[in-house]
Amino acid sequence: MYPIQEIRKDFPILGRTVYHKPLVYFDNAATTQKPRSVVESITNEYYSVNANVHRGVHFLSQQATELHEAARRTVQTFINAHSANEIIFTRGTTESINLLASTFAESQMKAGDEVIISAMEHHSNIVPWQLQASKYGIVIKVIPMNDQGELLLDAYEELFTERTKLVSITHVSNVLGTINPVKRMIATAHAHNVPVLIDGAQSIPHMKIDVQDLDADFYAFSGHKVYGPTGIGVLYGKEKWLDMLPPYQAGGEMIQHVTFEKTTFNELPYKFEAGTPDYIGSTALAKALDYVSAIGMKQIAAYEHELTVYATQQMKQIEGMRIFGEAKEKGAVISFLVGNIHHLDMGTLLDQLGIAVRTGHHCAEPLMNRLGIEGTVRASFALYNTKEEIDVFVNGIRRVCSMF
Ligand code: PLP
Repeated sequence: MYPIQEIRKDFPILGRTVYHKPLVYFDNAATTQKPRSVVESITNEYYSVNANVHRGVHFLSQQATELHEAARRTVQTFINAHSANEIIFTRGTTESINLLASTFAESQMKAGDEVIISAMEHHSNIVPWQLQASKYGIVIKVIPMNDQGELLLDAYEELFTERTKLVSITHVSNVLGTINPVKRMIATAHAHNVPVLIDGAQSIPHMKIDVQDLDADFYAFSGHKVYGPTGIGVLYGKEKWLDMLPPYQAGGEMIQHVTFEKTTFNELPYKFEAGTPDYIGSTALAKALDYVSAIGMKQIAAYEHELTVYATQQMKQIEGMRIFGEAKEKGAVISFLVGNIHHLDMGTLLDQLGIAVRTGHHCAEPLMNRLGIEGTVRASFALYNTKEEIDVFVNGIRRVCSMF
């Protein structure tokens, strides 16, 4: 049995009310709530360990450094990376992708070289490439999708040319919920000798990730979407690639020796971690990963799948319901519109009922253009949501509909 009642007790915020109604938090794709162990890790470390890492000989600094490096090993184990040197701490998925786009384009691409992305990317896996395109004249190619929200794999294969240098795709769409067949897509890219970056922002909280099994060259994710704190994330990269790439930012920590004439750079992973890292955040992130590991990623995936199927069935019974994204492989995200009701009106009225959903283009304007809409209402589920909450949500939609 999935211990839902015990799990909910670990998240104090779930007990609060909004406008005198019990909170129903369905905005998990934007950010997740935090269990006690994560919040307590932050306060405990500030209260009893806090000191800057790596540079100190004193006791506290060494203890803080050990916690920070232990967190790196926790991430390594969680995604099954070959080495802790392959785990770069960043501020989140966005910074991870910017780091890779910037260093990869600078060192591996010339004018006319191509990067392949997909029709369902978040802006943070589009705009970093556009910045590099305007700097270096690289070309962005886009994998199209069908009306169910599945990428067209034949069309994907046809995009490869002699000039293709990288594929950068999302694992799970934050709008459609589509789980892309990334293992297969990575194999296709590798058959063309092209490395692949996976945007894992929406997959890390919901499924077991094994970067070696996927054979991903790079994998990016954010701590706050997997029950960890804001401001910390990860770029995983195969050591052979990270060794080849130049530093991203410069400052303390990433250097070996500095003279006014010349600087030599530190080894991995520090080469990419300029300045004081978020060592409080890394430890708290490790606590979050420990938390989900204790429940089990398989159990979480199965439970969330049940919630998604149940919600979809209930929602489809509402007249005028349009669900965007009906891929065969789909995660815990449901984007929808009902009749002519504007997404903002639906979101605002649901909020009055204590139900938190997201509305708008979800940082995926090109996808909205493909769908021919301005925006959607998005409900996204997490390991602590319940069928009872889905009932409140579906009744809420019906109530809103009756007002129009
Ligand atoms: N990629 C996807 C698919 C996302 O859903 C998000 C956030 O919603 C991001 C990237 C950006 O994540 P962050 O804002 O944490 O850097």
